[in-house]
Amino acid sequence: MTNTERRQDAPGANAGEPGGIEVRNPGTGEIVGTVTDHSAEDVAAAVRELRLFQPEWEAIGPDGRKEWLLKLQDWLIDNTEHLSDVLQSETSKPRADALIDPAFGADVIGYYARRAAKFLADDHPSPHSPLARVKKLTTAYRPYPVVGVITPWNFPLAMPIMDVVPALAAGAAVLLKPSEVTPLSALELARGWAEIGAPPVFKVLTGAGATGAAVVANVDYLQFTGSTATGKKIAAACVDRLIPYSLELGGKDPAIVLADADIDRAAAGIAFGGMFNAGQVCISVERVYVEAAVYDEFVAKLTENVKGLRQGIDGRGLNHDVGALANENQVRIVQRHVDEAVAAGAKVLTGGKPTGQGTFFEPTVLVDVDHTMSCVAEETFGPTLPVMKVADEAEAIRLANDSIYGLSASVWTGDKERGERIARQLNAGAVNINDVFANLFSYALPMGGWGQSGVGARWGGAAGVRKYCRQQAITKPILPTQERELFWYPVNSRNLLMAVGAMRAAGARGLRRIDIPALLKLTGDRK
Ligand code: ADP
Repeated sequence: MTNTERRQDAPGANAGEPGGIEVRNPGTGEIVGTVTDHSAEDVAAAVRELRLFQPEWEAIGPDGRKEWLLKLQDWLIDNTEHLSDVLQSETSKPRADALIDPAFGADVIGYYARRAAKFLADDHPSPHSPLARVKKLTTAYRPYPVVGVITPWNFPLAMPIMDVVPALAAGAAVLLKPSEVTPLSALELARGWAEIGAPPVFKVLTGAGATGAAVVANVDYLQFTGSTATGKKIAAACVDRLIPYSLELGGKDPAIVLADADIDRAAAGIAFGGMFNAGQVCISVERVYVEAAVYDEFVAKLTENVKGLRQGIDGRGLNHDVGALANENQVRIVQRHVDEAVAAGAKVLTGGKPTGQGTFFEPTVLVDVDHTMSCVAEETFGPTLPVMKVADEAEAIRLANDSIYGLSASVWTGDKERGERIARQLNAGAVNINDVFANLFSYALPMGGWGQSGVGARWGGAAGVRKYCRQQAITKPILPTQERELFWYPVNSRNLLMAVGAMRAAGARGLRRIDIPALLKLTGDRK
């Protein structure tokens, strides 16, 4: 597809618009689109419109919404080829990675569309005391009217779907503000929603940080994925408006390789976990701790795997494993981490520099590194794997936990029970044993970061939809009601005695706590 076609195609993508945002293919430098830099007024108007249509969206219920979400799923599947082209154009991802996004999106939609009715069903908790048994208790899940979703550039299609779909399934209207670096796939998603004829409860507005800030200023709930620094600003703005939020932020995920591990699998899994999407994954492996006994063998195998990775620009063929970095700024960060490590005594076993084409950076293995170095302490978000030798499991756990982040981790061992024991000692929102990323594909589990890696979580079965809902408590009388309840006006010592006595009888420890003489004294008429 040509650029001109793309510009006409994507709603919100305006060719040559003054003040518009140019979108580049980072692998080639080519401009592949220009999108509108939406103003705060645009955002406010979009939210006003979403508010108009949301009540009807809530009213059709989870089964009505399922129909639309499954139509979107069909649209994603039918348009996979085109969506992958657009994804590649704005990221320079390999074809294989680009093909995964729509399939992953379809899987997420299927999960939430089909289960939302169960997840949103009213709860009827048992009353806490016999006194409360005169009421039927209900917890209803009522959506926040408008949910704002702000996404980063690393998965321009999958990332929006991950948060937009559960919010729509909950009955909320959704305003998505994609990253200004990769807005084209999100615009495609909006196009899909319009093409299937779905109610206008999902909008995409493009723009940079100021547009994102306007989203925060107008919506009722904010879901953010991105850097810790921006997440803190967003949290402060949400607190100021007293709106709830959920943040998935940076990570520095450790991998622990124990001497009893299958070293071939560990070396292959960690190469993938560190290099997938050129390391631009919040849950990518960013540092590796290896028990001394297998250190040399592991490092040799990891280096061989990483050296073998093919880099370059794919068309529709599956010719490469690793793509480009998102922009020049990412290249600078990765290069700084490598250079600072080398200056402090680290060794580069493979990679270590840009390839010279676009923003491609060679997949890199670093050894002789330690926690004083930026490549180990800071989030790199690039294709580097710093590897450290540790004496034993205890040292590995101590070093893995020596980080401000706590997104996820992996443990590689021949003893799965040992792996789980170690998992429970790690400060991370998720731990995969003998695998990477497995938690991301387990929608029944919560995906959330500890420490500076986030607040709240996505996924987690029912919690993944209920997070977009306000809980409403409803009490309904079971028995015929009297004219007055015991402690309604006017104050009366006999009724007060009965009310206080009954509460003590139901809630206190042992009948002696009712203490009738003391109660009589307390509630007696002292006029
Ligand atoms: P990155 O995408 O490099 O991780 P950010 O965390 O800054 O960087 O960006 C993530 C998303 O947050 C993007 O969509 C960006 O436009 C948006 N954003 C940046 N600054 C703000 C802000 N102050 N308020 C709301 N959104 C913002």
